[in-house]
Amino acid sequence: MPKIRADYSLEEDKVVVQAPAEAVPCTGCHANCCEYHVVPVTAHDIQRIADTLDRPMESFVQLHLSDEADGVHLRDGFFVLALRQREDRCGFLADVEGQKRCSIHAFKPGLCNAYPFKVVPGDQLEYLDGIVCPSPWTLSRRGQQSFRDDIRRSQAELAFHQEIVADWNATHPAGGELAEFAAFMTSAVERARPAASRRPGKPPTAT
Ligand code: SF4
Ligand code: SF4
Repeated sequence: MPKIRADYSLEEDKVVVQAPAEAVPCTGCHANCCEYHVVPVTAHDIQRIADTLDRPMESFVQLHLSDEADGVHLRDGFFVLALRQREDRCGFLADVEGQKRCSIHAFKPGLCNAYPFKVVPGDQLEYLDGIVCPSPWTLSRRGQQSFRDDIRRSQAELAFHQEIVADWNATHPAGGELAEFAAFMTSAVERARPAASRRPGKPPTAT
């Protein structure tokens, strides 16, 4: 999950390369993390990607069987929503001049923004367990704060997502269709948005 701020963006299906805001190991890395990890997504992640790309949820999300504790109850069992994989790597990973880069950098999921760190007591950044980064990170104070902000936002969105899933599971004891859950999730995200930023249409529909 490359962490190069304001570095790559998708414009009319072309990845645009800009100057990196801060030198980080991703610059010379072949995005090991995006090839190695499957990325679970939250309701906010899904809504941002669906809105920005104007694509339905099912075009970029796939279901992974999970246990009842953190899964969405659908007709065939409990599932976690994750970014769709293509050729065993994230479907949004693009080849740019021989380098592998994120094609949705500006609105990539919260987990990707936080990688490879977590915040531990004392407000310190610590590497996650099982990271696949090839070299250590050296971040400026500002870079560290930026990571902390991203991690906190990602945690808040994850908590919100878990509430949506718990609500859905409690009100759908026999499970439901993915399209129904998508509508349920969209409406929860829309309700939580400040009124001024609500946008009509473009729900992350599923079929
Ligand atoms: S969304 Fe981008 S950063 Fe995240 S795994 Fe996919 S390619 Fe990597
Ligand atoms: S493995 Fe580490 S250095 Fe390489 S792209 Fe991912 S976060 Fe960046």
